[in-house]
Amino acid sequence: MEKPQDPIPSNLDDAAPSSRSLWALWHQTPLYVRIVAGMILGIGAGLALGPRAVDLAIPGKLILRVLGALAPALILAAIIHALMTAQIKGKTGARLVGLLLLNTVVAILIGLFVANILQPGQHSHLELPTAASTASKAAAPDTLTQILDNVPSSLLGPLGDGGKVIGVIFIAIAFGFALRPVKDQPVRNVEDLVLLFLNALIKILSWVVELVPLAVFGVVANIVGTKGFADFKAMGAFVIAVLLALLLQGVWYLTRITLGSWVRPLPLLRGMRDALVMAFSTGSSTITMPVTYSSLKNRVGLRDQSASMGALVGANFNNDGTALYEAMSALFISQMLGRQLTIGQQLMVVLTSVVASVGAAGIPEAGLVTMTLVFHAVGLPPEYIAILLTVDWFLDRSRTALNVMGDINVSCLLDGKVRQTPAEADAEVVAI
Ligand code: ASP
Repeated sequence: MEKPQDPIPSNLDDAAPSSRSLWALWHQTPLYVRIVAGMILGIGAGLALGPRAVDLAIPGKLILRVLGALAPALILAAIIHALMTAQIKGKTGARLVGLLLLNTVVAILIGLFVANILQPGQHSHLELPTAASTASKAAAPDTLTQILDNVPSSLLGPLGDGGKVIGVIFIAIAFGFALRPVKDQPVRNVEDLVLLFLNALIKILSWVVELVPLAVFGVVANIVGTKGFADFKAMGAFVIAVLLALLLQGVWYLTRITLGSWVRPLPLLRGMRDALVMAFSTGSSTITMPVTYSSLKNRVGLRDQSASMGALVGANFNNDGTALYEAMSALFISQMLGRQLTIGQQLMVVLTSVVASVGAAGIPEAGLVTMTLVFHAVGLPPEYIAILLTVDWFLDRSRTALNVMGDINVSCLLDGKVRQTPAEADAEVVAI
């Protein structure tokens, strides 16, 4: 998958100098700094406005709605592209699929276990939207609610029978701008076509992600203004629970590596330092991919086939950190709503988290997009994902590092218990 291109629409070049420099400043500041700034300003606005800050939550809802609309299309394109391009052959291919599936299921089970034991959502309480509040909104919709209603909740919805014209226009504008810079690019085959669609979606997603600091500002202002700081206690507990679960999954990887390959954990971690730090600092396992591959091959000393199968092929499907996080989030929000998910519903969370993690592109915040699927599957209102925006900038980086560790794990296991001989390594260099 390619690195998303610069998300600045080309028409911004015509903007006035002052607005251009303001945009440049906004764009040059790292996203996490902008999100933290949004949080701090949101706390200030919440304290100053009190319950009147409730309307500031609307940008967050809008962004969640757009993310939810992008999710099915993004998953569709990502899985089609990964399956079309992956060079999976014979026995190694079957082994790869088995390892990926086992790791993902273990990750989700660890996530559910930790969330069930620690119950991070018990520290605060969210209200489910009641029929009465929905009805009163329907009686007198304000302008912002009307805008919200016209933002498509699914990408293909507005194109169907009785679709809303404004929704169609939103989609046309987004794709029009996303495809403008590549309008002269030749489309030679079906793979190019799928990649074009996937990249257009990733580009639209990157624009939406640019707005996340604004959403965080509104969400935090609304929470502080209407409920004070109780939710943050729960968020703190959630962050600790996710980090603990990620750590346990890391222990699982290293144990499996110790038992099933010739690689030893400490030299491995030393050799993979660059890739792990890069994953954490970029929040993208796709951008980190070349570093993961070359470190596995050159620093750790894996065979080329094992390194490429795990770090290049498997990486397209392998997002254990994302799967674990999505399952934990569903449980966390349901705990905050005072609803315990039944075993059946938790099984549904396992199934949908596997699919959602396979379909999550290796780019920042992709897990937040596909999470809407998990929420829908167990009847949780996806608008509550907004509250996770406040900590996602940090947890995204942490789960990305674990996603990369998952690729490392698979590569080491595929390499087996016997290290390649110097003669084998020399033959590989000649063959390349
Ligand atoms: N950022 C993650 C990755 O690149 C995907 C996610 O958002 O979970 O692996």
